[in-house]
Amino acid sequence: MFDYLIVGAGFAGSTLAERLASQSGKKVLIIDKRPHIAGNAYDHYNEDGILVHKYGPHIFHTNGERIFEYLSQFTDWRPYEHRVLAHVDGQHLPIPINRTTVNRLYGLDLQTEAECEAFFAERAEPIEHCRTSEDVVVSKVGRELYEKFFRGYTRKQWGLDPSELDAQVTARVPTRTNTDDRYFGDTYQAMPLHGYTRMFERMLAHPNIKIMLNTDYREIVNHIAFREMVFTGPIDQYFDYCFGKLPYRSLEFRHETRDEEQVLPVAVVNYPNDHDYTRVTEFKHLTGQQHPKTGLVYELPQAEGDPYYPIPKPECTALYNRYKELADATPGVHFVGRLATYKYYNMDQVVSQALSTFDKIVGTKRERLVVATQPTTVVKPAITARVPLAVAAAAIKTDGKSLPATSGSSQNGRRALLSTAE
Ligand code: FAD
Ligand code: UDP
Repeated sequence: MFDYLIVGAGFAGSTLAERLASQSGKKVLIIDKRPHIAGNAYDHYNEDGILVHKYGPHIFHTNGERIFEYLSQFTDWRPYEHRVLAHVDGQHLPIPINRTTVNRLYGLDLQTEAECEAFFAERAEPIEHCRTSEDVVVSKVGRELYEKFFRGYTRKQWGLDPSELDAQVTARVPTRTNTDDRYFGDTYQAMPLHGYTRMFERMLAHPNIKIMLNTDYREIVNHIAFREMVFTGPIDQYFDYCFGKLPYRSLEFRHETRDEEQVLPVAVVNYPNDHDYTRVTEFKHLTGQQHPKTGLVYELPQAEGDPYYPIPKPECTALYNRYKELADATPGVHFVGRLATYKYYNMDQVVSQALSTFDKIVGTKRERLVVATQPTTVVKPAITARVPLAVAAAAIKTDGKSLPATSGSSQNGRRALLSTAE
C-alpha cells in the first residue's frame, strides 16, 4: 500500500514526492505516461552528444530564496543570464524592448532613461484599465512597437489576437528605459550544472519513492492501493472532460544539429513577423557545453497535440473554475502544477505551489471521522483519520453526485478513500 500515488513526474509531482518521502516518511509511487522523469523540463544528450531540452528551452529564474535553496539540495548551478534578440525590420534587436532597441530601430541616440521615457510617453496610448495583452503593451510603448514586436508573435504563439488574451501574457515581458538586455530581472538566474534530468534523479532517489514510467495513471489506478493522490496532469482529463475540453496551446519542437560550433549570437532569437516558428534556441548558450557541433530547436505553435500552455483568457478561466469546484470537492486528491491548476506558471512558481501543498498536507488537522462512501459502507475510523474534516465533509456532500456518472475519476476519488480501508 502506498501512502501517495503521484501522477506526473515533473516539477509539481517530483517536489511533492521528494517532500512526502524525505520529510514525512511517506511511501510514494510516482508515475508518468512519458518514458522519462522531469516533465517538460526533461533534458538529454542527443545522438550527437549535445545536451538539449526536449520540450523547448527551460531557463531557471526566481526571486524566491526558499525555492532556490530547496532545489540547491539537488544540484549545483551554472550562473546564466538569459538574453534574447528579436528579428525585426531586418535587424536583431534586444527584447525586452530597451533603450538600445529604440536607438537601433530608429537610428536615435537616446542617452538617458528620461529621454527614453519621453520617447515612450509620446507614443503610449492612455488606457485606464489594462485588461488585455494588447492594452499592456500599447499603453507602455505605443502601437508601432506593439505591432513590430508583439502582435505577430502573439498571434502565432496563441492563435489569438493579443486583444483576446489576458494582460498577464504580454506583461511577462517588461519594457525598459535603460540598457539592461537580460530577459529576466530575477535575483536568482542559473541553470542546473548537470542538467534538469540529473537534478530530478537526485530529487527522486529516496528509498520510499518508486517510479513507474510509460504508464498512464488510468491503466493502474484501480489496481494499486494508495491512500491519497497528487494529480499534476490536465484537470479536465481527470474529470473525463465532463464540462468539455479545456483548451491548451501545443507546440511542435523541431530539433536540429548543425555541423558548426555556434550559430546564434545569443541563446534565443524570436521571430515576431517571419516564419511559422516563434523562436529558435541554441542550447550550448544555456548549458555552457563545449562541442564542435551545436543543437537548435524551432518552436512551431499548434492547436492540437500535447498540452503545454493553459490559455489565459476569460472563457477558459471560467471553464477551469467549474473543474476547480469539482477538484475542491474531491477528497484525497491534490491538484498541483501548470496543467492541473490551469495556470501559466514558470518552474519556480510550480515548485512554490508544490511546497505550499506539502505544507498544507502536513499542517492540516487530521480529524477522526466516519465517512459513508456508499449508503452501507463505513470507512474505518483509523484510516479516515487521514482525511481532513472539511474534505471528508465534501466527500459526503458530493459522493458520486456532482461527479459525472461515467467518470473514472469519481471511482478514483472513492478508491482513494476505500483503498485506505484495505
Ligand atoms: P509538467 O512538467 O507538464 O509535468 C506533468 C507530467 O504529468 C508530464 O510529464 C506528463 O507526462 C504527466 N502526465 C499527464 N497526464 C498523465 C497521465 N494521465 N498519466 C500519467 N502521467 C501523466 N518555465 C520556466 O521557469 N522557465 C522557462 O524558461 C520555461 N520555458 C518553457 C518553455 C516551454 C516550451 C514550455 C512548454 C514551458 C516552459 N516553462 C518554463 C514552464 C515549465 O515547463 C513548467 O512550469 C513546469 O515544467 C511545469 O511542471 P509541472 O510538473 O506542473 O508539469
Ligand atoms: N511575446 C511577444 N514577442 C516576443 C516575446 C514575447 O509577443 O518577442 C509575448 C507572447 O505573447 C508570448 C508572451 O509575450 O507568448 C510571453 O513570452 P515568454 O517569452 O514569457 O513566453 P514563454 O517562454 O512562456 O513561451
